[in-house]
Amino acid sequence: MTTIELLATLQAQGVKLEAHGDKLRYCPSGVIAGETLRELAAHKEEILAILKRGKVEVITCPGDDCDQRVLLVNGVGRCHQHNMSISVHAKIVN
Ligand SMILES: [Zn+2]
Repeated sequence: MTTIELLATLQAQGVKLEAHGDKLRYCPSGVIAGETLRELAAHKEEILAILKRGKVEVITCPGDDCDQRVLLVNGVGRCHQHNMSISVHAKIVN
């Protein structure tokens, strides 16, 4: 499993990840087990480095005929299939 696939899986399960120094915390604790927990341990360093850059979210590329997963950090990412920057900014309901 790639890091982005793992992050997408955890996001779909409603798991929140937090970096505390060199430790990676997740909650709720009961959701992750077995294979996913082993994957999380295997990708720990990479995930910690990503979390330190800001708010992390995985989306499906909004481009036409593209189903690539895109990692957004603070609302900004890049689709490697389109080689295109993707920026998702929060909007306010009027
Ligand atoms: Zn794309």
